[in-house]
Amino acid sequence: MVDEKQLQLFDCLVRDVEDAQPEVPTGRRPDPEPVGPRKLWPETDRRDDLADLEAVARAARDCGLCKLGAMRKNAVPGEGHPRARVMWIGEGPGADEDEQGRPFVGAAGRLLDRLIAAMGLSREEVFIGNVVKCRPPHNRAPEPDEVCACLPYLARQIELIRPEVIVILGGTALKALIDPGAYITRMRGKWIERGGIMIMPTFHPAALLRDPGKKKDVWADMQQVLARMR
Ligand code: SF4
Repeated sequence: MVDEKQLQLFDCLVRDVEDAQPEVPTGRRPDPEPVGPRKLWPETDRRDDLADLEAVARAARDCGLCKLGAMRKNAVPGEGHPRARVMWIGEGPGADEDEQGRPFVGAAGRLLDRLIAAMGLSREEVFIGNVVKCRPPHNRAPEPDEVCACLPYLARQIELIRPEVIVILGGTALKALIDPGAYITRMRGKWIERGGIMIMPTFHPAALLRDPGKKKDVWADMQQVLARMR
């Protein structure tokens, strides 16, 4: 059952997809064309401002496009290699991240670091970010208007990095990026393709802290990521 709030979450995205459809002459179906991330995630009209990752980070730090901007200590634009083969996307910064302005630096972040290291990778060679760049109060999930306001930053980061694989961490990011009706318990471990980028949803590290039994599932998902990278 998809609730109203989840549906709202995609209002901005659905509009984007609809806007992107070409006019179809009567009686003729258009040739299928590949659907890229720019059609599924909101496109920014600020490409000149957001020319590179550093410009995206600066814009996020100065941003006041949604109410989270007034509540943050530090925006957390995300960090990592500009040509990372893998991007890890969570839902939003927590208290430690808000304090330091860096993604995944609390207990869940340390677990993510261990996972990345166990895969033979390092934090410096991947990119780690979030759907929203400022901390939602009391660690609540980001609200639909916040997601819609913030997604163009992430979309631009994806466009600039063009990773081979995106690992979506947790149900909230999955709903925001893929489908408001999606459940992480059903979709984890299953590849999704968007515009030539392969996407692997898995549990959020915070869920592993609550339920260490999920670690074996996440590790199985990461084996799939490694196999694809090879
Ligand atoms: S969450 Fe995103 S849109 Fe909202 S103020 Fe922060 S950077 Fe801007």
